Amino acid sequence: MSYELNKKLKSIEPYEPETGTYPVRLDANESCFDISEKLGDVISEAVKKVEFNRYPDPTAKEVSEAFAEYYGLNPEHCTAGNGSDELISLILSSFLDKGDTVVTLSPDFSMYAFYGFINELKIKNIAKEDDLKIDVGKVAEFCNNNDVKAIIFSNPCNPTSLGVRRQDIIRLVKNVYCLVIIDEAYMDFWGESVLDMVEEYDNLVVLKTCSKNMGMAALRLGFAVAGDTISNAIKAAKSPYNVNAITQAAAAAVLRHKPMIMEYTAEIVRSRKMLQNAVTELAERYFTIEKVYDSVTNFIFIKTPKAKEIYDKLLQRGVSVRYMGSYLRVTAGTERENHIFLKEFKEVLSLL
Ligand SMILES: *Cc1c(COP(=O)(O)O)cnc(C)c1O
Repeated sequence: MSYELNKKLKSIEPYEPETGTYPVRLDANESCFDISEKLGDVISEAVKKVEFNRYPDPTAKEVSEAFAEYYGLNPEHCTAGNGSDELISLILSSFLDKGDTVVTLSPDFSMYAFYGFINELKIKNIAKEDDLKIDVGKVAEFCNNNDVKAIIFSNPCNPTSLGVRRQDIIRLVKNVYCLVIIDEAYMDFWGESVLDMVEEYDNLVVLKTCSKNMGMAALRLGFAVAGDTISNAIKAAKSPYNVNAITQAAAAAVLRHKPMIMEYTAEIVRSRKMLQNAVTELAERYFTIEKVYDSVTNFIFIKTPKAKEIYDKLLQRGVSVRYMGSYLRVTAGTERENHIFLKEFKEVLSLL
C-alpha cells in the first residue's frame, strides 16, 4: 500500500522565498535596520527572564499591552499571532465555513488565496483597475450581490505599493454585510489607518505585523485588532500557545521604545522616497521602465516587460529583488544598499 495525498495537497508547492546569499537583499520588504543592534541589551535582559520549562502566556498579555499602548488601542481588542500569517489562516478558517466565498483582489499578497484554498473556501478574485487601484464601490457591490462572507486585502498593498484612503475603507466597511479584513502590514509608512474604527464597526478586523517597519521579522509576531465580538472569537479559536515566550518577551521590550521605532520608520520612508525618485529619473532615460508606482510603503513597484531579464542580471551582480511577472518589487534599503542597487540597475538597463 502506498499512502496517497489528497487532491489539494498534491496541487501545492512549498513557499519558496529567495534563499541564496546575496550581498544586497531587497526582495522581502523587511526593515533594513536591525533593531537588536540598538536594543540588544534590553532584549537579552527580557529573554533571560523567560522560564524555558513553562508554556508561554496563552493570552500574550504583556506584549499585547505594549502593542496596544504603541497604537493607543484597548489591549482586549488585540490578539497576538505567530506572525500575521497565522492570523490570516486562523480568521479565514474559523470565521468562514467550507465552501463560503472570500473575495481577494489582484494583484495582492499571495497568502490570502493560499489560506483560502487550504481551508476549502471559494475564492473570488477581483482584478484591480488598469492603474492597479481599487474601485471600492465596485468591490462593495460585488460582495453584497454574491453572498460573500469575507473580503481580505492589504492596505497599503503588497505588491503594488499603492494605498486606499481611510475614508474609502470606511465606506467599504459601512456598505457591506460581510467581514472586512484589512491587512495594514505597511500602514506605518503611510498614515491612513482604520485601527481606531474597530470599536465602531463590528465587521472590521485590522491585521498588523511586527515584521516590517518594526524590524522584528525574525520573531514572528502579528496582531489582529477588532471589536469585542470578533476579538473574543479569535481568542477562542486560536491555538492556545501560538506565540512563544521568547517572542513575547523580546517584542514587548522593543515595543516600549516607540520613539526609536518611529525614527527607523521615518528613515525607511526617506530611503524609499530616494529610491522612488532615482528610479523615476531612470525611467525617463530607459523606456523599458514603463511605470514606477506612487509608493506609500517601504518598497517600490516597477512595471517593465524586461522584468525577468533585469531580475536575473541583478542576481548575478549580487542584488536580490522580487520578480513578479511584468513587475519588479524593490525594498528600500540602507543608503549603501540603495546606492549599489541603483548603480547595478542602471548598468543592467544600459545593457538591455
Ligand atoms: C509581510 C507581510 C505580512 C507579514 O506577515 P508576518 O507573518 O507577520 O511576517 C502580512 N501581510 C502582508 C501584505 C505582508 O506583505
